[in-house]
Amino acid sequence: MPAEPLNSATGRRPADRPPPPPHHSSGSSEVEVRRSSRRRRTVSAYREGGRTIVLLPARMSAAEERRWVGVMLDKLAAQDERRRPDDEELARRAERLSHRYLEGRARPGSVRWVTNQNTRWGSCTPAEGSIRLSHRLRGMPAYVIDYVLLHELAHLLVPGHGPDFWRLLARYDRTERARGFLEGVIAADRLPRPGSGAAGDRDGAERPQ
Ligand SMILES: [Zn+2]
Repeated sequence: MPAEPLNSATGRRPADRPPPPPHHSSGSSEVEVRRSSRRRRTVSAYREGGRTIVLLPARMSAAEERRWVGVMLDKLAAQDERRRPDDEELARRAERLSHRYLEGRARPGSVRWVTNQNTRWGSCTPAEGSIRLSHRLRGMPAYVIDYVLLHELAHLLVPGHGPDFWRLLARYDRTERARGFLEGVIAADRLPRPGSGAAGDRDGAERPQ
């Protein structure tokens, strides 16, 4: 997650472990190694889209690179694991929110976390009833995740952001607070700037706000 890259001082020797394969594959996702001459002693790693970026000091040897990429991939995997709720919990939350705020009318076919959505908090495809939330929301307050979830659930009933849509969202008493939180996250420039919501809406994907 770009907002909070993992950092490790290279002065500490990591536990011995087998080196990762030569192409730095991390499951199905791609790993990109970036070297910086300004970076001297720290290694960082974060997820960006479907890729994992590992930042290394320019002078690190190939053997050290292999070792550190392995270390950072393990750390990121552990961090991902901590950032639950998982998909199953997300589906349960969606069901609760639909019942509480939308009379149970929104019935998503699937609700899941995705890591390839860096300019939008959530998206939905009403034709399929599928909802996707950006993994960047993991670790944010529950009321913010609930807001994004409810926002996408409401889109299963009402497309676009007209008065009918916001009337549905107004039932959730923390809508304004959650929107403020997300605006603050963007304003703090800790995350990439999102694209235009209007453009996103056309392909069924957008950034709720
Ligand atoms: Zn929306």
